Amino acid sequence: MLTRRLNMKKQNIETICVQGGYNPGNGQPRQLPIVQSTTYRYDTSADMGKLFDLESDGYMYSRLANPTCDMVAKKIAALEGGTAAMLTSSGQAANFFAIFNIASCKDHIVASSTIYGGTFNLFSVTMQRMGIEFTFVNPDCTEEELNAAFKPNTKAVFGETIANPALTVLDIEKFAKAAHDHGVPLIIDNTFATPVNCRPFEWGADIVTHSTTKYMEGHAATIGGCIVDSGKFDWAKYPDKFPGLCTPDESYHGVTYTERFGLEGAFITKAVAQLMRDFGATPSPQSAFLLSLGLESLPIRMERHCSNAMKMAEFLESNDKVSWVNYPDLESNKYHELAKKYLPNGSCGVISFGIKGGRKKAEEFMGHLTLASIETHVADSRTCCLHPASSTHRQMTDIQLAEAGVAEDLIRLSVGLENIDDLIEDVKNALNQI
Ligand SMILES: *Cc1c(COP(=O)(O)O)cnc(C)c1O
Repeated sequence: MLTRRLNMKKQNIETICVQGGYNPGNGQPRQLPIVQSTTYRYDTSADMGKLFDLESDGYMYSRLANPTCDMVAKKIAALEGGTAAMLTSSGQAANFFAIFNIASCKDHIVASSTIYGGTFNLFSVTMQRMGIEFTFVNPDCTEEELNAAFKPNTKAVFGETIANPALTVLDIEKFAKAAHDHGVPLIIDNTFATPVNCRPFEWGADIVTHSTTKYMEGHAATIGGCIVDSGKFDWAKYPDKFPGLCTPDESYHGVTYTERFGLEGAFITKAVAQLMRDFGATPSPQSAFLLSLGLESLPIRMERHCSNAMKMAEFLESNDKVSWVNYPDLESNKYHELAKKYLPNGSCGVISFGIKGGRKKAEEFMGHLTLASIETHVADSRTCCLHPASSTHRQMTDIQLAEAGVAEDLIRLSVGLENIDDLIEDVKNALNQI
């Protein structure tokens, strides 16, 4: 059940998106079967006992693992070029598990300050209450400033490839080097870029997380998350830092994860065995199926999201009612060089911009849109927009907003898959009315 060692064939991403994770045998269903069962039948108690001792592969209870979910996790592991992966019921659960799997009370984490509002709250409020301390650093900080954020009890570094909604592009190599110099892994939330546009493991990241709710599923049909392990971080080199991975787990029959499952399987096996068991943030097989269906078209959707967003960004930049436009693929953008390096095929479909007249005009503009709807969502087939300062980020102080890269007048526009001429017409009409 718990070993997710994968056969890494070198296939291209489009092929993995369509065919990865599930290889039907003779006469078996061509499409991924939805195994709608909470439990699994065994002939003898001894057979079942081996599963509980993590001695044999197999399923016992769908809170821990389910074949449909595992096959989709395997597809995503292959997309990211990792060795093991698990699905979670949301992106929030993925980021929580990724950190809580290696950090406990009295530990410390270094995180980029420009991260998703929900993640910022998880870290700075809820996990802080669990006794885990966070230091937030400006992603554009110097190496010295970054190194200065580490403490003897630091257990990981966290950042987003393209931050939601600040759209800062993380210098992954800089963050990976600092993390590794301090003997800890770099965890990258790769939600906005997706493995189609960036594969953080190729730049030194050790763990990748996703809110699959966004582009991966892509149709605003189901919430989900994923954690992928590169299998490269050598936990066993730092047994004092990572006792949970390197010493026997008394809550799991004395198994030592690094010894039993190797570097390629230890992290995910521990996360399933302990965190799924105890917190139960399990996706349903139905949701995993929808995610898999979305993944089939991910590469062609990303291409269209990016080309639509580029045309929209250029239109906005040329309009005199717009005060500023932030899109990493624009040459004028502060992150253009980093985007060219890490995201050579395009960044994502999300743009942020401000309208002359600030908050009031921004709200007025949004009210005049007809195709683009106002939603707390991004990164699906339908174009939508949001004013973060009055919605997703409204709990933040002005200083926190500035640190998160969210201006008070910022409008986040998630450009969908509609015809771009229709979308530009819609935005043009709304701008003409203010
Ligand atoms: C949406 C999002 C999350 C949270 O994911 P949910 O699926 O909504 O729980 C985490 N990180 C990023 C970058 C996101 O955009």
